[in-house]
Amino acid sequence: MLNLTQCPSWGASVGVCAAGSAAATAGAMAWGLVSPRSSFWGPVRFRGPADGPPRVALTFDDGPHPQSTARILEVLGELGVRATFFVIGRNARRWPDLLRRIDEGGHVVGNHTFDHHWFGTRRHTRYWDGQFSATDELVHSIIGRRPAIFRPPMGFKVWHMMNAAGRAGHSVVTWTRRAMDGIHTDPRRIVRRLVPRARAGDILALHDGVEPGSAGDRSPTVAAVRPLVEGLRLRGLEPVRLDELLAIPAYAPEDRRGEEPRIAKAFAASQRRRFAFEKGFAADARG
Ligand SMILES: [Zn+2]
Repeated sequence: MLNLTQCPSWGASVGVCAAGSAAATAGAMAWGLVSPRSSFWGPVRFRGPADGPPRVALTFDDGPHPQSTARILEVLGELGVRATFFVIGRNARRWPDLLRRIDEGGHVVGNHTFDHHWFGTRRHTRYWDGQFSATDELVHSIIGRRPAIFRPPMGFKVWHMMNAAGRAGHSVVTWTRRAMDGIHTDPRRIVRRLVPRARAGDILALHDGVEPGSAGDRSPTVAAVRPLVEGLRLRGLEPVRLDELLAIPAYAPEDRRGEEPRIAKAFAASQRRRFAFEKGFAADARG
């Protein structure tokens, strides 16, 4: 990155140098926002170890959804594959039975914000603390555990979000390759995008759901799951859960057995965060 220490001398060129430095910094910040691989705003994991066992992680975003999640769970169950589902809080609240089925199938539930708001990157600390705690507490009320892995909507990251993730004890995980199944596509195209170039350690991103209030057809994704898994296995790659691939906890430590005092402490903290979140909503509604 260009900075003042690289400028040739103080004098007529200093203004140009300063402008260049500011532009470079702005560019790095923008890249940090949109790139799923950038750790500019805080630590982000986008792949597992390439030199480890030949494994990849299948991840599904934006669910749960009655049109597709149950069908994907059925196929994964038949194939003996466990995956990771980054759920939107509003969708989980609407379809709690599907969330239970994800958990009962041995899959991981991750946090994908409560609202999946496109302009959430413009919001600040109180908003992001609320997005984490509202989703974590909702998931806890349904499956008895709080997620510890977070995926930013669209992979966009900002400072307030990353700091809130740290306070909430979440690992931030994006992806290595994505299916591009959030737009019009077909199963063959999804498989072709993911299988031929997949490498050990890859995190593959697909969609089992749609944003609250939006329409979307996830039939191509549902139909792609079986050939995708079979294609990966033919290449010697076994799909596993994200916590297994990255060796990170899937759920909050206070939700493990035998740690009751920490549960009480965490619950008190979460209540404080929830109160702040609701106050934020009230303020938003007013103005
Ligand atoms: Zn999403």
